Amino acid sequence: MVKHTGRHFLQIPGPTSVPDRVLRAIDMPMIDHRGSEFADLAMQVLSDIKTIFKTDSPVIIFPSSGSGAWEAALVNTLSPGEKVLMFETGHFSSLWEKMAKNFDLDVELIPGDWRTGVDPALVEKNLQNDTNHRIKAVCVVHNETSTGVTTNIKGVRGAIDTAEHPALLMVDTVSSLGAVDYRHDEWKVDVTVSGSQKGLMLPPGLGFTAISKKALEASEKNKMGRAYWSWKEMLKANETGFFPYTPAVGLLYGLKEAIAMLHEEGLNNVFARHARHGEATRRALSAWGLENLAINPDEHSNVVTTVLMPKDHDADSFRKLVLDKFDMSLGAGLGKVAGKVFRIGHIGHHNDLMLAGALAGVEMGLRLSGIRGVSSGVDAALEYLAEQVA
Ligand code: PLP
Repeated sequence: MVKHTGRHFLQIPGPTSVPDRVLRAIDMPMIDHRGSEFADLAMQVLSDIKTIFKTDSPVIIFPSSGSGAWEAALVNTLSPGEKVLMFETGHFSSLWEKMAKNFDLDVELIPGDWRTGVDPALVEKNLQNDTNHRIKAVCVVHNETSTGVTTNIKGVRGAIDTAEHPALLMVDTVSSLGAVDYRHDEWKVDVTVSGSQKGLMLPPGLGFTAISKKALEASEKNKMGRAYWSWKEMLKANETGFFPYTPAVGLLYGLKEAIAMLHEEGLNNVFARHARHGEATRRALSAWGLENLAINPDEHSNVVTTVLMPKDHDADSFRKLVLDKFDMSLGAGLGKVAGKVFRIGHIGHHNDLMLAGALAGVEMGLRLSGIRGVSSGVDAALEYLAEQVA
């Protein structure tokens, strides 16, 4: 067995590498979660996190994964039997749809090809046709982590407005928040769902919902059962810096530090860094002669690139080879595209040389797999990165 030295290359699109600074912030003795020291921490992170969602509305922080936040969004706003409009953009939109059905919501799913995002024109058409306003919510995944496709949320908002439809807009930003520009208030999103383990550079374990006034009003009347996920209980406790149950104290120390890091770099610079890495990765892909699963250039994800393997090669065997030989984890193909694609994550605590190393690992793997005349994607990426150094 190969013994690896140096750092493991974790190039999956989350959980992402956690900065040492954040790890040190988490490494604290436990404190009383009902004491004033905790309340000070909670008040600070509950306020600071709003700057990342770009909202003045409350953001709830659950001790949960992103799926918990999905559930919170549904159970706090909708009633069994109510209609929701969802779009099949990939594996994660499909999981959210399955969850909605488990809560007896009447899901209208607009089928998709797993290669494109949500088309605002389709949102508008479906809402225009819903003259009785039976649709209570439109649910969209901002960045489909399985396909590497980013949906234009501003466009979706525009479509809802043009249709003059009162449906709530719910957006999953699990793999975009803190990495791709996102504006909860400006885009009039009603519930934004997110998680800690990707752009926020934390370990998994925090789930977020940012809530508009309209969503909060819906939560006062809707009929879905809820207990752990109740916004009401949480918001009441949060007023004084507490939680209705034991919070993830250590992760909250980490969150405070991660938010500080994002602001030290500047959110626009963080987004620009991800955009550079997305573009450099795509240039490497073109040089390798491989195809991006995401078809439309204006929907290419800047946080993850999903690569189609040539037909006679299995993507999982390729990932295993790269892991065995170079100690690098690449993202697996999920759902419908399992075995057909691998994913290169370039999200979170990530810099040019980490990307160069990751692309070098992919390139060596492609050569070892005997994939036809691979020319240097690394060179193509480095040339672009060097040009773009500010
Ligand atoms: N939504 C998206 C876009 C995701 O990428 C993920 C996980 O990767 C989830 C939801 C589910 O989050 P979790 O696995 O933290 O429950």
